[in-house]
Amino acid sequence: MDFRTAQNGVSYLTSGLLPVRHAFSTRLGGVGTGEATASLNLVPGELEEESVTRENLRLFSEAVGFSLSRLVSLRQVHSARVLRVSGADAGKGLLFPSEETADGYVTAERGLFIAVRTADCVPILLCDPENGVVGALHAGWRGTFAGIAPAGVERMEEAGADRRRIRAVIGPSIAGPCYETGEEVYAAASDRPLLRDAVFTPSPRAGHFFCDLPRANRLLLLEAGLRAEHIGLSGLCTHCREDLFFSHRRMHGRRGTMLSVIGLEEPQ
Ligand SMILES: [Zn+2]
Repeated sequence: MDFRTAQNGVSYLTSGLLPVRHAFSTRLGGVGTGEATASLNLVPGELEEESVTRENLRLFSEAVGFSLSRLVSLRQVHSARVLRVSGADAGKGLLFPSEETADGYVTAERGLFIAVRTADCVPILLCDPENGVVGALHAGWRGTFAGIAPAGVERMEEAGADRRRIRAVIGPSIAGPCYETGEEVYAAASDRPLLRDAVFTPSPRAGHFFCDLPRANRLLLLEAGLRAEHIGLSGLCTHCREDLFFSHRRMHGRRGTMLSVIGLEEPQ
């Protein structure tokens, strides 16, 4: 991952695997001063004045280089539902309030940007640069084991992509020994014993497991037909890296939210 800081002070991460405009936000930059939201919270909520979050969104869009009026990011519900979005959806969710929900998006429309919201869950950005299709997925444990990654690949093919050309980057999330889960998470993978055994390890606490969600999503993308060399992992843990990220678990639910955004630019 490449760490970039824009002239306006906003820092974000990109990957050389994705040759289109995209970013995984960090908590660095922006104008937030609250303990839980300093300083680049990007989703309006009760912890911060809305005018502050709006200014952060403006700064982030300026730093990355997309128009906020063309961004789609709806409320998430830990499903495996991936929407194909178009210009009619531009601005929905962050610029304009919306009751609609989704945990992933694909689009083949130029000039439209799609974003998922995370603060420990796994963000995945995808693109097929040859066919001009992009995707963004939010994969917590429910979405991961419900198969949002293969669902995203299917939706991308419906929009014109070819899975042998799709590149995917699995962004910063909680991982490894930081992500101890209970039996309900282990049980969510029970119909996939090979996957379950590859990503869960017992923790010292009875009935608890460490779960490697980035690895689970990588394995699901491989199984869906992506080439190994087309799948990148950030290797960054949101829980460990207090200097870079908000973390739902570390901050006990009182935290800002990051965005992972991708889009195809308008032709010049
Ligand atoms: Zn960690």
